[in-house]
Amino acid sequence: MLILLKHPLLTHKLTQLRRKETCIKDFRETLDEIAGLMAYEVTNDLPLKNVTVDTPLARFQTRELAIDIVLVPVLRAGLGMVDGITKLIPSARVGHIGMYRDHKTLEPLTYYTKLPDNLQNAIIMVLDPMLATGGSSGAAIQVLKDHGAKTIKLVCVVGVPEGIRKIEHDHPEVQIYLACLDERLNENGYILPGLGDAGDRLFGT
Ligand code: URA
Repeated sequence: MLILLKHPLLTHKLTQLRRKETCIKDFRETLDEIAGLMAYEVTNDLPLKNVTVDTPLARFQTRELAIDIVLVPVLRAGLGMVDGITKLIPSARVGHIGMYRDHKTLEPLTYYTKLPDNLQNAIIMVLDPMLATGGSSGAAIQVLKDHGAKTIKLVCVVGVPEGIRKIEHDHPEVQIYLACLDERLNENGYILPGLGDAGDRLFGT
């Protein structure tokens, strides 16, 4: 299921990311801010549990998060979304899945996997700024399912219908969050209008 986030601040910041003149520093900071804004929306259905706290003045029945949260950036570009979310959820654990696209076949290849344990009881956010063919995000989701993950949210910044269709077909239970739905892929698998190669822009390669 696609959830398209439409906050004006998200639109504004995404415009900054798209500009080809945006330098590495601004690209990094803005992607981080976008991830934080998106996390606010992505977490709006998290379960809470009752707790009792003592304030300086009184005992009070309140609530706090009842679930473990695991962030899984898809390397490289997903790394650019981690800090913005851990600022809001400092207790989140972070796994990593290394994936790259073969530039000829456009197929995703996994070169690294390091995940926290007990994934079956956690809410997992897969972070990948660009939902292009859906190949790498879909492959990362499959790796997580193979490790026992049950509740997975895919958090991307920009996506195209091709990628959404693939995830919805292969992983229908996964909620897909986007800040913008772009037009299409070009012949090299890049999103149009998009923002270029997110990993290259983030790391200056
Ligand atoms: N990955 C990117 O970084 N950019 C695209 O446009 C598509 C995939």
